[in-house]
Amino acid sequence: MKTKSLIVVLAATFSWSLAGASSTPAVGSENEQLKTIVQNLLKDNDEFVKSHDPEYFKPFADGQKPRATVVTCSDSRVHTHALDKAPDGDLFMVRNIGNQLRTGEGSVEYGVHHLHTPLLIFVGHSACGAIKAASSDYRRESPSIKRELVNIRIPKGVENMAGVKLNVNNQVATAVKKFSHEIHSQKLTVVGAIYDFRNDLGQGQGRLVITNINGSNDSDKIKTFLSMSDAPLVSAARTGSSAPPAERMRPHPYAYP
Ligand SMILES: [Zn+2]
Repeated sequence: MKTKSLIVVLAATFSWSLAGASSTPAVGSENEQLKTIVQNLLKDNDEFVKSHDPEYFKPFADGQKPRATVVTCSDSRVHTHALDKAPDGDLFMVRNIGNQLRTGEGSVEYGVHHLHTPLLIFVGHSACGAIKAASSDYRRESPSIKRELVNIRIPKGVENMAGVKLNVNNQVATAVKKFSHEIHSQKLTVVGAIYDFRNDLGQGQGRLVITNINGSNDSDKIKTFLSMSDAPLVSAARTGSSAPPAERMRPHPYAYP
């Protein structure tokens, strides 16, 4: 039953993505489209398998030692390749609508407490639908969706990028409170960032912009953090790195500002 529901949702989503290209397709053609989607996934996976020999998987086949717990939005336009050349074994990913702590709290805790990642980073993004919904009247959404939107505490009618920034700040603030012990003992740094694929912030399309360090938006503190040679951020740390994930250097946490 669940599988059937998923198929209906996927088919409906795919039909929606083709809106304008054709009129509402018949059930038969929806099934064909769905089959094509799955075939494409398997084809891409096959290419992945063929282009990665067993040596590639060795460093992380029996365990993981990621350098960062990353909380991003589920949005399909936001993916690890934008901030990490080889995220395998390196990024512990938590995804939900609106890149929130509360709706993925157990997963975030696992990354910080069990995997001991020295960095927890919340990544908002331009044109976020969750932010748009949270700043609008969402009373007609389903109970499940409402339960996730209610944790995005931003004013109604706020401009989207302003809402994205505010939400990232709120998520970092919640995490700083939750993990205060780890931060004060310099085992963890919490960072807020925005992946800007529209260049809304004017720093380049696709840029990852750091907006918050341990609850501070002070630009000088952020600059200081970025200039620390022994505390590379996820994107900066990967430049030219071809070392296997298990051998990569883990950054030292930043002192509480
Ligand atoms: Zn989003």
